[in-house]
Amino acid sequence: MNILLTGGAGYIGSLACVRLIEAGERPVIYDNLSNSSAAVVDRIAALTGVRPELVEGDIRDRARLDELLKRSPFDAAIHFAGSKAVGESTRDPLLYYDNNVHGSRVLLSALHDAGVRSIVFSSSATVYGDPDTVPLDEQAPTRPANTYGRTKLVIENMLRDLAVAAPDWSVTLLRYFNPVGAHPSGQLGEDPQGPPNNLVPYIAQVAVGRRPHLTVFGDDYATPDGTGVRDYIHVMDLVDGHIAALRRRHGQPGVRTYNLGTGRGHSVMEVLQAFERAAGRSIAHVVAPRRPGDVARYWADPALAARDLDWRAVRSLDDMCRDAWRWQKDNPDGYAAAPDRIRTA
Ligand code: NAD
Ligand code: UDP
Repeated sequence: MNILLTGGAGYIGSLACVRLIEAGERPVIYDNLSNSSAAVVDRIAALTGVRPELVEGDIRDRARLDELLKRSPFDAAIHFAGSKAVGESTRDPLLYYDNNVHGSRVLLSALHDAGVRSIVFSSSATVYGDPDTVPLDEQAPTRPANTYGRTKLVIENMLRDLAVAAPDWSVTLLRYFNPVGAHPSGQLGEDPQGPPNNLVPYIAQVAVGRRPHLTVFGDDYATPDGTGVRDYIHVMDLVDGHIAALRRRHGQPGVRTYNLGTGRGHSVMEVLQAFERAAGRSIAHVVAPRRPGDVARYWADPALAARDLDWRAVRSLDDMCRDAWRWQKDNPDGYAAAPDRIRTA
């Protein structure tokens, strides 16, 4: 299949691109490189032997999308492109409504007019907000607690409404829990700009000496060790979930929503200890007050994805930390020293 990967140069999209090529599909990356580097294409080519096409463009740019859709017939799109920082979404909500909601709207119009009727969308467990009970299944109430999460829910609803109006659409909404880790080669991984917001990239930067210590946001939650509990999922398991969704859902009209998680929760301290084992060194941390907006604990009920998509996460927390560490130590500055950045510097 010819597959359009919006945001395909990013952390998750670049790994999905590798897996799609390995599965014999033909992905084309469409990305404005606002949070990624063109160097990922070299890395994908080195890993797979196939150089995916990278079209630099914005999902809000209808003319650019039309140009691409006219020359390349796509069977499906996987829509990763968007902004994802919770704190930034609170400070600049209109940016998030513009990039995520408006951008998705423009993309969907362009796909629809070009006759593409199959999409897999990167949603987030953030749409659930603070849960009443865990684990969370797909029927749990959605009441996102921040702007980022609300934009994801608006896009989910936009896709549901579209599928009602145009019943030939096949829409798969994937709600990611906490993706971490990297490609096992250490060649592709997460490259946050500025101080990482997320736990594992932050720990990795402390371990490699870029930052003095991890700040643990609260140790007084009602959890076994007092620190927050999340469902961390290896990013390679997550991208395999996309392949499974494409296989099972392509050509099946209607909307399906799936949690992509492991079904297991780990605390901040458990993650820190697993990373210390992976890196073979101790990692400094200090405990600080809770981060505003954080919830105590949640993890997925991934049974529906197992049943419908025949997909399960198989990698352990130790695998996640081992691969995150390999990526970090082999690329201490991310893609910063990669050839494309050197050429344009
Ligand atoms: P990322 O920032 O690494 O990748 C997103 C990519 O989209 C980047 O390459 C960026 O340059 C591109 N992009 C952003 N706005 C664009 C636009 N207007 N037009 C074209 N390209 C644009 O993020 P990621 O971690 O790979 O996340 C991918 C998707 O998964 C996002 O939609 C994110 O909200 C969602 N998600 C991520 C997580 C996570 O923890 N990483 C969790 C849940 C959901
Ligand atoms: N966390 C932390 N220190 C950090 C970043 C995160 O203690 O520097 C905690 C956070 O409070 C939460 C967990 O790690 O309990 C996961 O946070 P992250 O931002 O990675 O993902 P979230 O679940 O908030 O999307």
